[in-house]
Amino acid sequence: TARVEDYLATQVATRPDALAFDDNTGVSVTYAELDAAADDIGARLTGLGVVAGDRVLMLSENCVAAVALLFGAWKIGATVVPFNARQTAGEVQKVIDHAEPSALVCTSAASPDAAAHGARFGAVEATGPYGALSFAALDGGTPDATSDVAVLLYTTGTTGTPKGVMLTHDNVRFGGLTSSNLRNMTPDDVIYGVLPMTHVFGMCSVMAAAVYTGAPVRLAARFDVAATYEALKSGVTLYSAVPQMHALLMAYTRKMGYTRLDSPTLRYVSSGAAPLDPAWKRQAEAFYGVAIQNGYGMTETSAGTAATTNAIGDPDISVGPALPGVEVALDMDAPGSGDGVGEVITRGPQVMKGYYKNPEDTAKVLSADGWLHTGDLGRIDEKGHLHIVGRSKELIIHGGFNVYPPEVEAALNDHPQVIQTAVIGHKVDGDEKVLAFCQVADGDDVSIEDLRAFAAERLAGYKRPSQIILASSLPAAPTGKILKHKLLEAFADQIG
Ligand code: ATP
Ligand code: MG
Repeated sequence: TARVEDYLATQVATRPDALAFDDNTGVSVTYAELDAAADDIGARLTGLGVVAGDRVLMLSENCVAAVALLFGAWKIGATVVPFNARQTAGEVQKVIDHAEPSALVCTSAASPDAAAHGARFGAVEATGPYGALSFAALDGGTPDATSDVAVLLYTTGTTGTPKGVMLTHDNVRFGGLTSSNLRNMTPDDVIYGVLPMTHVFGMCSVMAAAVYTGAPVRLAARFDVAATYEALKSGVTLYSAVPQMHALLMAYTRKMGYTRLDSPTLRYVSSGAAPLDPAWKRQAEAFYGVAIQNGYGMTETSAGTAATTNAIGDPDISVGPALPGVEVALDMDAPGSGDGVGEVITRGPQVMKGYYKNPEDTAKVLSADGWLHTGDLGRIDEKGHLHIVGRSKELIIHGGFNVYPPEVEAALNDHPQVIQTAVIGHKVDGDEKVLAFCQVADGDDVSIEDLRAFAAERLAGYKRPSQIILASSLPAAPTGKILKHKLLEAFADQIG
């Protein structure tokens, strides 16, 4: 059966000396060098006792060594468990307990956090033309030699404890191929790779798509506004990011007085993994000078399910039609349905194999005939475009009315001094209050009264926040996505 490393083999056969990846530590590899590095790393893993069907934990921030590790582990038949090095020791331990990896590999040179995790396990550093990695053997669970799982990827944890999603080689290949086709990618493209490969968007839509295409990726270990601005000006053609990255970059450019990017090369920008506000889309398109395509997906769907192909300035805020080969429908009997809104369900080659070691939760979301229940509420317009209105878990029922957090967030994000907003429901005396957390620029003097008045102009009475809390930062995942389930605890002393 076909495997993700076949994409690399194709590039080695056709353009061995073309630049494949470089990173912000100064390492760069051609496809032939990446392939040799993968073999070297595969041999090291074998030396540590890793066999086919074992899990290998990759604690990383984006760098060339991480890509070499992915392909090295796949070549010896192992499943990679990518986990962001910025997560805490406790979070890493939970993954070890759940995934039972037989080895741990840390991107020690590219990430001080990864090096620190490695040190706790006595990991030994090995260097090569790919940079450096530190390796440690772990006790590990039983290998599953028949496994077709390429990656065990944990969900963001927006709504609670992250879930371990099994994505097969076919899933990752489909994600890569579909993302490449959607973007009309060619080997002449240059991709800015700042989405972490520990998240499905970076893994499938960036890494796998690039290797499938043969287009080079400039990897960045972390999102940094100034570095992103410079990179996008200097030769990058494709940029994929979560909406929060777009919002932070826009806030930075406003502060610096930059009005237009003026890049002669940038041709495609996408947003995905969280709702894209109309205001953000407008501002960002004006700045980038190209359209922002909104892609909808989740870890459980190898990144992509639907995406737009709009011209710049199109006010369409849907997530477009289903991707080729993918089915999308609405379950109108699901909780939160009504008025043309239903739970988004999807079927196709992008749908995960299941949650690892969790058949109960898998059965809750994946039906016998292959339909995945996404937990997202949406509607489908007359053009067949899907609109995501919110998550069923986050639907707020206030005074008997449905309030969708993304609509309230979008209204507040429109305010010039608000960088980003998170809205959640808070149960008090049998009702749910609408709580809004607004991130404003450090030192910006914004009054809550002003924000209230601003929201009141844009939202019907029942949708207006009962309380607005100002913050200089919000709890976020390594991608930049806001971890909503942490808000109540993080701001407990201010919620009244
Ligand atoms: P968890 O499942 O652990 O609570 P999560 O769902 O945020 O976390 P991901 O797999 O990263 O983990 O995110 C997928 C979710 O992100 C989707 O189910 C959807 O709610 C949201 N999402 C993704 N793309 C879009 C988009 N373009 N517009 C609106 N929402 C989106
Ligand atoms: Mg989810």
